[in-house]
This record gives sequence, structure tokens and C-alpha cells, in this order.
Amino acid sequence: MAHTPDTSSGAESSSTAVNGLKGDKRKHKSRDLSKKRSRDHGDGKNAEPSGPDAAHAMRERRSSISKPARDFRDKPEPAPKKKKRKISTADTLKEEAAAEEAAESSTRSPSPVIDFDGLSRPSVGTRARLEEDEAQRELRLTKMKGAVRTLLECIGEDPDREGLLATPERYAKAMLYFTKGYQENVRDIVNGAIFQEGHNEMVIVKDIEVFSMCEHHLVPFTGKMHIGYIPANAVIGISKLPRIAEMFARRLQIQERLTKEVANAVMEVLQPQGVAVVMESSHLCMVMRGVQKTSSTTITSCVLGCFERKEKTRNEFLSLIGVNR
Ligand SMILES: [Zn+2]
Repeated sequence: MAHTPDTSSGAESSSTAVNGLKGDKRKHKSRDLSKKRSRDHGDGKNAEPSGPDAAHAMRERRSSISKPARDFRDKPEPAPKKKKRKISTADTLKEEAAAEEAAESSTRSPSPVIDFDGLSRPSVGTRARLEEDEAQRELRLTKMKGAVRTLLECIGEDPDREGLLATPERYAKAMLYFTKGYQENVRDIVNGAIFQEGHNEMVIVKDIEVFSMCEHHLVPFTGKMHIGYIPANAVIGISKLPRIAEMFARRLQIQERLTKEVANAVMEVLQPQGVAVVMESSHLCMVMRGVQKTSSTTITSCVLGCFERKEKTRNEFLSLIGVNR
């Protein structure tokens, strides 16, 4: 899939366990860099290397596929250090515990999924759009229509010809639909559908169709998302998982963040033993322009909790969704 030579640019942009499982150690060092690096999957700068270096790199990558999974997260956790606490007071102990707790939670999720005002990771204009009245909605639409008309003029079209007359309005409405996720929040979606079942086996919803918009080019990227979790007794209504995916997909996104946001949302709302999300998708900005790699797939994954700690659990998930081939 993503590990054919054709797809190297896609595979490299995934900051994920998928790479790790294929055993390319060098990738892990760039993991953090790739997260920070602003994503540019279009301009050919990140296209496959050519020449003898490329051939060498390709050989290396191929041979690594057959090797067992190596992932820095698989290393056994170091034995807890004996802290010199004989001289610590109760206060410093408390502080240390709080700091540890903070560090732990900060790696789990960078921001709370349900904010104090009930919006889930809102953007600047989210509240305004959510609470606008009829007049404000009209104003927004008029503004958008004007912008689309300008676009039509700028590409050299005649916005007054018959076929294009209603296009600005249609496009504005479509755009609002593509980004309707800004007006939704996780609390309303879940709506109490969490059940104490005493079930502690892996639950997977796979092949969830996802349609999102690349925030760099404002063109779609589409694909499939697979969400798995291991409950800590509580299970979530199965249909809620695709709806959470939909909510975050219907915003301006990059695939890496979309994957992470869905995983974090499930983690926060359900508090399971672990969550794993894998997304494979095709980016129109890459397929239709730029490097024009029409068959490439970009795979991203985010694993939290027991999926992050246990290779066996992660592999079970990957083989069930059919990625770990
Ligand atoms: Zn793009």
C-alpha cells in the first residue's frame, strides 16, 4: 500500500506507528520533526529522490519490511528510579506527584476535547458561526458569494454566463457543509451513549468513510478511517465513532491532526484502556496537482494507552483492520 516506491512521499508524511511497524528505525528520529514540519505534499519538493541514492534507499526500505517490528515505544519501560525522598517534605512530594500527573496527561491530549464553553476544539469564528441569527447568516453567505465571484473572474471566466450564475451561491453553501464540523461538539454527539458493560475486549469500527478538506489547498482528501479501542468496562455506542470522525473531518484539516483529534476525543470521552486510529487517504492536492501521484495513499495513525504500550495489542489491531500485512 503506502510502502510501494510510488508512495514514498505519502508514507513519509505519516508520523505514525505504521512506519514503525515496518521497522525503519531512521524514521523514528524524524517523527517529531515531521510533526512540526508544515505539510507540503504538493509541490514536488518532497517527491521521491532519484539517482543512486534513491535506489539505495529503496533497497534498504524493502529489506526492512521483513524485519520484526521495532518501535521505540516497544522498549520496556525503565525500572522506576529510587528517588531520594528521605529528605523530601510532604509538600515537595505532592508537587512531584502533580508534575508527573501533568506530564502524563499532557502526552495523552494537548487540549481538552470538551472545552469550558461546550465547543470541541473550536476555531476563532466557531462561536460566531454557531450563534449567528438569520441576518448574520445572510451576510456571511453574501460575503462568500462575492469571494467566489471574484475567483471566477480571476481564473478568466465570465461569472455572468448562464452556467455560472448560481455557482457562487452553490459553492458557498457547499463550503459551509464541508466545514459543518466546526458547529458540532463531542458532548452533543456522544449524548450519553456510554454504557457500563464490563466488556474489556477490543472493539473496532473499520472502513469509516471520511471526507475532509486539506487546509493547505482547500481541496478534499478522502479515505477510510479505522477506530479501535479497548474498553475499561464502559463501551460507547458504535455509531458514535463514525460521528466523531465526521465531526473532525468536516473542518479544515491535515490528515495527521485529524487522526490525532479523533483518537484524543475517544480517549477523553470514554476513558478506555487505549485507543488506536488509522487513516488511509488520498489527497486531491497531491493527485490532481503537484507531484500527481494518482495511486498514492497516505497513512497516518495515532495510538494511545495500551495500544501505545503493547506491541501485541497494536499488532492485533493492525492485522484486524488489514494494514499490518
Ligand atoms: Zn493539500
